[in-house]
This record gives sequence, C-alpha cells and structure tokens, in this order.
Amino acid sequence: MKVSQLPYRRVTREEMTAGLRHVIERVRGARSVEEILEARAEYLSLKTEYDTAQSLSYMRYTINTVDPFYLAEKDYYDEIGPEIENLDLQYASAVLDSPFRAQLEQALSPILLRSMELQRRSMSPEIVDDMVEENKLVSEYAQLMAGMLFPFRGEQLPRPMLMKYARSADRATRRACYEALGTTLEAHSEQLDGIFDRLVHVRDRMAKKMGYQNFIELGYCRMERMCYDVQAVQTFHENIVRDIVPVVSRLRLENAKRLGIDTFRLYDNEVFTPGGDPTPCGKEALFAAAQKMYDGMGDVPGTFFRMMCQNEAFDVDARPNKWGGGYCTEFVKYHQPFILANFNGTSGDVDVVTHEAGHALNAYLIADNRFALELGCGGMETAETHSMSMEFFAWPYLDGFFPQAGDAQRYRFQHALDALSFLPYGTMVDEFQHRIYAEPDLTPAERNAVWLELETKYRPHIDQSGIPYLERGTRWQYQMHIYETPFYYIDYCLAQTAAFQFLLASQDDYDDAFARYLQLSQQGGEKLWTDLLAEAGFRSPFEPGALAQLAAQVEPLIRRQNI
Ligand code: ZN
Repeated sequence: MKVSQLPYRRVTREEMTAGLRHVIERVRGARSVEEILEARAEYLSLKTEYDTAQSLSYMRYTINTVDPFYLAEKDYYDEIGPEIENLDLQYASAVLDSPFRAQLEQALSPILLRSMELQRRSMSPEIVDDMVEENKLVSEYAQLMAGMLFPFRGEQLPRPMLMKYARSADRATRRACYEALGTTLEAHSEQLDGIFDRLVHVRDRMAKKMGYQNFIELGYCRMERMCYDVQAVQTFHENIVRDIVPVVSRLRLENAKRLGIDTFRLYDNEVFTPGGDPTPCGKEALFAAAQKMYDGMGDVPGTFFRMMCQNEAFDVDARPNKWGGGYCTEFVKYHQPFILANFNGTSGDVDVVTHEAGHALNAYLIADNRFALELGCGGMETAETHSMSMEFFAWPYLDGFFPQAGDAQRYRFQHALDALSFLPYGTMVDEFQHRIYAEPDLTPAERNAVWLELETKYRPHIDQSGIPYLERGTRWQYQMHIYETPFYYIDYCLAQTAAFQFLLASQDDYDDAFARYLQLSQQGGEKLWTDLLAEAGFRSPFEPGALAQLAAQVEPLIRRQNI
C-alpha cells in the first residue's frame, strides 16, 4: 500500500491509560510466567497501535506543517506523551519486580530486562517537573536556533543555508560565512549561555535527586547503554587522541597544501577537494541508480528498495511548509519504513539513498523480530553502524550517482577523509560533555576555555584564531546535540569505527563483507553492539590497539583514493 493511503486513527489517552493499567494489573497479579507473557502480548498490541498512530501523524505533519488536522494530532500526542511514558515505566517496574523475573529472562531475553532496568533508573516521579523544564529549555534553544538569521552578502539566511558557503571552493567566501556565523551567534551569546547553564543545572539536579553523583551516570542510563561504561568511553577518548588524531592532522595538513591553504583555519575544515563538492545527478536518475545498486547487492536489498519506491516511502522534494530536516521512521503496524529529506542538489542527496536507506533496510529486516517494538535495532551506535556502513558499501556504485568524470573518485576521497576527521571531532564533543557535567558550576567563560583546550588536544591542526566569537571557544553552541540530547554523540564515533572496518573488509571481499553486514543488521536489539561486532569478525574500538590498527589501514586507503 502507498504510504499516503495508510489509514490513520487517533489512539486516545483514555484507551491507552485504561489499556496500560489493565496490563499492569495483570502483571502484578500474575500467578505464573505464562500470565505475564499474555499480559505482555496485550502490551505489545497497544504499543503497536500507539506507535503507529504517533509516527503516521508526525510524518503527515512534517510533510505539510500547516495542515491543521495533523498539527492538532501531533500536539495531542505531545501532550499525552509524559502520561503514557509514566505508565510504560510502571509496566516495566511490574515486570522487573515480578517473582517470576528469572523465568522471564529465560522466556524472553536478559537484554530486554536490562533495558527495562535502565528505563527505570533513568526516570522517577520526583523529577517529572524537572523533565518538563528540561524539555522547555530544549525547545527554547531549538526555536532560537531555527529563527536565527545570519546576514550574508545582502541576504538574511537561516543557518543551514548559510553553512552551504562553508563548503565553497572560494576561501574568502568561506571566511565571510564563518564571520557571519560568529558575529550573529555573539549577538545571542547571553541567551545561548543562559539556556545552557539552566540545562546543565536542571540535569544535575535531576541526577542528584535520583541519588547519582552527577548527570553523567543518569545520562548513560537514559541512553540505555549496556555494553560500555564511562571507563570504557574514557579509554576510547585516549585511543582516539593517541592513534587517530596524528593521522587526521597529517592528512588534513597535506591536503591543505594541495588546496593552497597556508594556515589551516576553522573555515577550511569543510573542504576536501579542489573545485569544491562533487555534484550528484538529479532525483530521477539518482533513484534509478540506487535501485540498480540495491539489486546489485542482492535479492533482499533489491526487493526492499523496490518496495520503498512502489509504496512512495520517500518524500525528498524541498517545498514550502515542509519540515526542513531529514529522518527515517517506520509505521510498525504496517511494516513500512519511511524517509523524509529535502534534496538540494549537493552530495547530501546521495546520503538519503545510502545512509537513511541503511536505517530503513534495517527496519525492514527486523520488522518481524520478536523484540522489535521493545528493543528496536538496539542502541544508537548500532543504528548508526547500519547507516554509516551502507554509505561505504555504496562505493563501487558511485559512478551512477555522480555523472561527471572523476566526481565519484573525488567523492570517495572526500567521504573517507571526512569520516576519519569526524572521529576526533565527535570524541571532543563527548569529552566536553563529560567535563561540563562533572563540573556543573563552571562559568560560561570557563566552559569556552574547556572547549579551546579540547580543540588543541583533538584538532591541533586547526588554527582557531581570526573568527569573531568562535575564536573564544564557542563552536559547541551550534552543535545541537550538546543542548538537546546529552551524551548522544559518541555513538556516531563508535559506529564510524565499525563502518570503516566494513569498508576495509569490502575492499578485500565485497560479497563476504556485505553478507556479514546483512547478518548484523537483521539481528536487531536482541544482541549488544560489541557482540554484533565480534560476530561480524571485527574488533571493538574499546580494545587496546584496535584503533591503532584501524588507523594503519585507513590512512593508506585514503591516500589511494586521492588520484
Ligand atoms: Zn543516521
């Protein structure tokens, strides 16, 4: 069925609260493990209806944000969300406290019970008011950033439009772009610092109310991290600094020379090849090339992509009143993934049919998984492994996406160097957050000093001077994750190390590597990321020496792309 024809019905607060309370009662009063399993089946059918209705209405709101019907539906679910979440928590608690817990772990999965435990450890009725305050501050930041206009060469541009110039082949243009960025952010610096300060303190307060030393522990519970802790992440930071930073600096400085750049500055960071970004073909040709690619990868990916196109499960045209971002979601009841994007003629369009389609393929593969609703595909590092690896599996097919001679090869070089450069940056964002939440009372100036200190540690090749405001260590203020989703960033770095291992394996034996990828993707959240990696024959980036080995293989691979 076409996505536009999928039937929608509002799932009401009354039916959800009555249904969930009934389920909770059944779990609490159960006299056997079977009775709990029956209650869980009831829970799953309620959740299927609710999740499907919510994501369908949200999707229809985003494709036309002025449609009054779906706008009202979206507001409705926003309003009843916290109440449903609270009942979900009571359900999890009832399961966890059941006298049949040991049997449940056997009958279901220990991972499922651990995920419920983390859910319980990340919320408590006494922090509900703080959570509301946190959400308000996040919205305040999102609105501030969305509404901020940057004067640039006679125009007033929103940030995503301005940042296109950060990739310009002309250095003066890039410099002007960053000057506009810094100057405008500076005009809002009081708000940006104020919102962040209140966010840090409300998060710290929630953590302390729940008995944690600081927000770091609570943040990890919220991310439902099961296969690595703060200690492991700390080791990862150190490995990045020792094994990856020198390689990235070397490659970027060498490349800068080729681009005629003397002193490497912040505004040189988004350019990789002379002449600027490679240009992809238009939409029709891009989708035709993508279908060819997925058919080439095998029956399963080919069938998946054909289904997505037939069901019109892509909305990629930019148009007025459409939400400006991009996402991949799914309508569980109908086993239907969906991708929204805004094509703009840059190489970002290619990511839609590789990265986002990697997420969608995973949703398609795990639709019948028995824990699909509760565990999804696993943690965010697992989700991003699916998508970032797919970007690399597209390499042999890139000529179909970039028609101009040499562009596909330029893209491979840019893609790999950009991906490797991301590792230090993403890790720096993560270490910054650890530092901030360990010392919540730092002043805004002290926070900026921490950022600058980390820049020297993680990106020593970049000269930070010369750009108003940003030279004072404020680059983090437009990294939305830092405000909106604390500690969700290292996941991209972890996933990138897995994606590189898939790339290296695919250079040796593509079919074998892709088979391992499909096997990893179809297992969903039933297995932990580190176990999935081991099964695929790869090393965990937490292991001593794993990143040194990766760097030793990726550096020559990147050099080989530069022809
Ligand atoms: Zn993604």
